[in-house]
Formats: sequence, structure tokens, C-alpha cells
Amino acid sequence: MNNMNKMTSFNAYGYAFLAGARAVDYDWLARLAANPISLKAMSASVRELAIRDLALIRAIAQQKGLHSKPTVERLNVAYATALDVYKTLGFKVADLPLRVQKEFPRPYSDTDLWGLILDRQDGRELGVAPGIYVRRSKAFPGIGEATVCHELVHTLFSFVESEALVRGYEEGVCDLISSVALAKLYGWRWAADILIALRIFVEERRDRIYRDALRQVSAHLLILGEERWLEFVRDVQTSGRKRFVEVERSLLCSGDSTDLAMRSASKGSPGQTTQLTNLALRVLTAPESYVMSAQGYLVGERATVGASLRDLRKQLAPFMSPREFSNAVNELHSDLFLLVVDGDTVIANEAPRYINAGVCRYRF
Ligand SMILES: [Zn+2]
Repeated sequence: MNNMNKMTSFNAYGYAFLAGARAVDYDWLARLAANPISLKAMSASVRELAIRDLALIRAIAQQKGLHSKPTVERLNVAYATALDVYKTLGFKVADLPLRVQKEFPRPYSDTDLWGLILDRQDGRELGVAPGIYVRRSKAFPGIGEATVCHELVHTLFSFVESEALVRGYEEGVCDLISSVALAKLYGWRWAADILIALRIFVEERRDRIYRDALRQVSAHLLILGEERWLEFVRDVQTSGRKRFVEVERSLLCSGDSTDLAMRSASKGSPGQTTQLTNLALRVLTAPESYVMSAQGYLVGERATVGASLRDLRKQLAPFMSPREFSNAVNELHSDLFLLVVDGDTVIANEAPRYINAGVCRYRF
């Protein structure tokens, strides 16, 4: 069940490439997994690791039935499930239709956004049909569902019209709340893995904004406690988005936002639920540091204390040149502080501990 967490390359782009590049063509994945030649353009080290990942993705996709339904059907199920879950959490829900489309309406047609919510206010102002828009080409299995569940949370805060541009704190709220719906669809482990893969292991600047927001909100949830935090978020449905803006401002400026948020949310009975708390903890503890070259990953995985580097180099010769090997040792030693060598002998190696925890990723 937790195989996804062990995946070595599982950043969002790796996932998008591996699981989504051919839409839902899992036969293609199966062929790729069975036939390493398809990965010929990659270095031998990347190929070695990618083959392992492909086999895992294939197994998980089969187990979850992700490949058995057409895209629109998958997303509709996600939409209906999320509506139910948000009602159960005590939210009033909107009835914006789900629109799975090739292109987004203007002025968003030129963006590469995966999902977009245009509420009734937006619809009026822009002269377009309101709805939850999802770009069909980006609705990869698992990720498409995550997009629908995330966008739907935004709609919960549209009952009070607002001038506030939806950013920062609200994005983190959408990620955490939507994970409850994703968990209902595919289990908590999968939901958490999707969220971590999408939000934590990111390279592009824009994606870091989502990561920062998710971390900010996760920290706030841990301070308030799950029940009180949920109560605060429910309260925003009637008091309006300005509450998010206020809380974020005081989190950023003074650190006394907890008082601010708790004063308005005092009736909760803390400690009733733990799943969002666990998720918030994982979000805050997932390290970004252990992203490395595929060669570094293989060396880190195999180097045992007392082993000779010369022997290890021979053992790994099918995957890397002697120069790549020595660069990888250097990377683990000097950049990542995971490996210590004395002359030709490995003195210490911490990499397996992190690899086993599923937090090491290789550059694809
Ligand atoms: Zn969003």
C-alpha cells in the first residue's frame, strides 16, 4: 500500500511524466516497465531507478483501478465524493458544475493551469460560464482527482463576495481539506503521497508558493488543533475570505495569529480527529534536502560501512562511469553529508535510512 512513498523519482513532474504523459495508457507503462529499451535515452542510472518506479506505478494503478475508468468519469466520481466529504465536515457546498475541457476560457486560455474555479461573481465579471474547470490533458490519474478536490474547496469560500485575491493561506487550506476527499477515494496513504509529491518536491518558483502555503497552514493547524482549525475554516464561509488574509498577515508579521484565530473559534472539542494532524506533520517534516543524482542514489543505497570504494565502483560499473562514481561519492559526502569515507573505505553511510523512509529522490 505504501509503495508510492518509496518511489525514488516521485516529484510531481516525474509522476506527470511517468503516469500521465500518455493519458491513461497503462499498457504503455506496462510495456515501458517490461522493456527497458524504451528508456534508452536516459543514463543507465536513471534507467535503473525509473524501471523500478514504473513497475511500482503499474502495480499501484492496477490495485487502485485507476486505469479502468475514462478521465471524465474518474473526475466526476471525485467531484461527487468531495461534495459529500465537505458536507460531512460541516461545510455548506456550492453547486458549481464540473467542466473538464481542452481549453480554459479567456483570460485564462493562455495559462498552463491544471484547474481553475470561476465562481458566479467571476462568471458575471468575465462573461463566462461559472464552473470548476479542469484541463483534460492535465487530469492524470490521481492528480486529476486531486485538482478537482482542491478547486472545489475554493468554492466553499465564495458565498461571501470578496475582493481578496485567492492566494497563500487559502491554497494551503484547499490542499489540506481536499486531502480528506482524496483519502475517501484512495486511502490516506495515497492522498498524503499525492500531496507531498505535488507540493513538496518542486522546482519551479510558482509551485514553491503552494508548498509554502501548505506548510504555513499545516503549522497553523498543529498550533490550533484539528477541530479548532476546522471550526475556524468553517467560520470563513460566513465571515468571508478576509479572515484568511488577516490570519496570514499576522502569521507572517507577528506570530500571534493563533490568538486571533482562536478567539473566533472557541467551541471546538480538541483532539477528536488526528488524520489532518498526521498529514500536517508529514508536510512539515518531509525534507527537500535529499534530492540527488541517480548515481548518488545508487551509491548511497549500496555503500556499506567497511566496504571498499574500489569494489563498490566495480559493482556499480554497469550504471556509471568511474568519473560519475567519484562525483556521486563526492555529492553524498560534501553536498548531502550522508557518506563518510577514509581513503578507500566507507566509514559511515546514512543514506539507506533516508532511502528507506522514502524521502530520497533522484533527478530525472
Ligand atoms: Zn488553488
